[in-house]
Amino acid sequence: MSTRGDAESPLPDSTAPPGPDTALEEEAGRSARLDAVTGLANRSSMLRAIDRALAGQPPGAFCAYLSFSVDELSAVNDAFGYEAGDHLLRAAADGLRRLEGADVRTARTGSGTFGLLLTDLGDRQRAAETRCLEAIDQVLRTINGATELPSGMVLDVSTSLGFVLWTPRGSRPVTGADPTEPADDDCPADEYIEPHDSAEIVKSADMARKRVRRTGGQMRVRRFRHRMTDEAQERVRLFSELRRGVEGGELRLFAQPIVDRHRRVVGEEGLVRWLSPERGLVGPDSFIPLAEQTGLIVEIGEWVLHEACRVLASWRDDPDRREMTFSINLSEGQLRTDDFAERVHRALARYDVAPGRLKLELTESVLHTDLDRTIRMLGLLRGEGVLASLDDFGTGYSSLSYLRRLPVQQLKIDRSFVSEVVDDAHTAAVTRTIVQLGRTFGLQVVAEGVETEAQFEELCGLGVDAFQGYLFARPRPVSETLPVG
Ligand code: C2E
Ligand code: MG
Ligand code: MG
Repeated sequence: MSTRGDAESPLPDSTAPPGPDTALEEEAGRSARLDAVTGLANRSSMLRAIDRALAGQPPGAFCAYLSFSVDELSAVNDAFGYEAGDHLLRAAADGLRRLEGADVRTARTGSGTFGLLLTDLGDRQRAAETRCLEAIDQVLRTINGATELPSGMVLDVSTSLGFVLWTPRGSRPVTGADPTEPADDDCPADEYIEPHDSAEIVKSADMARKRVRRTGGQMRVRRFRHRMTDEAQERVRLFSELRRGVEGGELRLFAQPIVDRHRRVVGEEGLVRWLSPERGLVGPDSFIPLAEQTGLIVEIGEWVLHEACRVLASWRDDPDRREMTFSINLSEGQLRTDDFAERVHRALARYDVAPGRLKLELTESVLHTDLDRTIRMLGLLRGEGVLASLDDFGTGYSSLSYLRRLPVQQLKIDRSFVSEVVDDAHTAAVTRTIVQLGRTFGLQVVAEGVETEAQFEELCGLGVDAFQGYLFARPRPVSETLPVG
C-alpha cells in the first residue's frame, strides 16, 4: 500500500515505475487540486486543508485564515488583456509560495483572490494574534508594491485583506465559566469564531475583506467580527425592503430652497427620502450608498428625475416660481447608463419642461471614473440647455484641469467649510479662494448648510452668490412648493 500521509501531496508508489496511466492520473490529480495559472493550491484544496485542520488541531488551539485580493486585477485584464492579468497573479503567487511552511498554506481561491491558512498558533489568543499579524505583514509586503507587466509598464499593486481567528468548535472554555482561571490575556470571545466548517471560515474572512474594499482607505486590512454577519444580514434585509419600497411607491421627494443675497428663493434642491412602513422616514444617507452598490440607484434616479420635471411643470404658470430652477442629485451609476442624456430628454419632453430649469448636481467622486465620458454626457445635455452643478465642492480631489473642462455652471461649497467659516481664518481663506475660482470659470457659487446669521454675513462678504441651509428653510415635502388648488 502506498504511504499517503497527506492527501494533498500524494507520494508516488516507489515499487512501480510510473506508466502512462499513472502519469495521466497524476496529471488529473494535479489539476483537481492546483490552480492552472499560478500553480498554487486551488479553492477546494484550501477548503480540504482547513477541514483537516479543524479535525486535527489540539483542543483550544488557534488558527487563522487570511483572504486577500490583487485589487488591480480586473483593471489590468480590461486594459492589457488576460495575459497581463495572469502575469500579475503569478508574481503574487511566487511571493506567496515563499511564505509556505509546515503551518502555512496558501491558495488561489478566486479569480483575483488568495487565501492563507495559519495553523498551530497555540492556545494563547494574544500570542496567536501576534503571529497572525506577522503573517499579514508578510503578505502585504509580498503583494503590495511595484510589479512590472510584460509590456514593461510598472504597476503599483495593492491588496485588500480580511482575516479571521478561529478555533475548533467547543474546544475553548466558556468565558467566565471558572473565575479562578485567569482570563485568556483579557481577550473578548467575540474576536474569534468557533466555526461549523471550512466554508464558514472562508466566508468570514471574505466578508472582512469585502468590507475593506467597500470602505476604501489606506489601511486595507480588516478583522472579522461577529457583528459583520449581523450587518451583512441587515444589508440584505434593507436591500429587499428598499427594492420593494421603490416598486411600491414609497419614495418621497423633499425640497430645500436656495436663496440669493437678498434671501429671495431662486431655486430648490430635490432630496429623496424613503417612507418605509417598517423604518419610518429614512434619509438618503441610509439607503443611497446601498442603492449605488446594487444598481437600484438607476431606478431611484429615474423616479427623482420624473418627480422633478412634474414639479417644474406645475411651477410653469406660477409667476413666483416659473423662473426658478430645480436641482437633482446624480450618482455615478446613473451617468454610466448609456442612455442617460436620452432619459433626461424624454422626461423633460413628457412634462413639457424648459431644459434650462433643470439642474443636475454631481459630486467630485463621480468624476473619478471616465471623466471624458462624463464630459461628453454633460456636453450633450448642455447642448439641450440643461444646467449642471458641482456638489460638495472642496471635499474630493478638486482639480483645476477638470473644472476647466467640465460643462458646469455652478459650484456648491461643501457644508464642512460653511460650518467653520466664521471661527477659522484658514477656512475663510479657502472659501474665498473657491469663490475666486468660481469667478475665474464664470460659475455661480452656492454655499450649502448655512445655519446662522453670522455664517450668512461672512459668506456674503466673501462674495458667495446663493445660499442653502436651515437658516432659510429645512427640506420639506415637495408638495409644499406646488401651487395650492
Ligand atoms: P447634498 O446633495 O449635499 O444635500 C445637502 C444635504 O445637506 C441634505 O441632506 C440637506 O438636508 C442637508 N442640509 C441642508 N441644509 C443644512 C444645514 O443647514 N445644516 C445641516 N446640518 N444640513 C443641511 P440629505 O437630504 O440628508 O441628503 C444627503 C445627501 O444624499 C445629499 O447631499 C445627496 O448627496 C444625497 N441625495 C439626496 N437625494 C438624492 C437623490 O435623489 N439621488 C442621489 N443620487 N443622491 C441623493
Ligand atoms: Mg446636492
Ligand atoms: Mg452637497
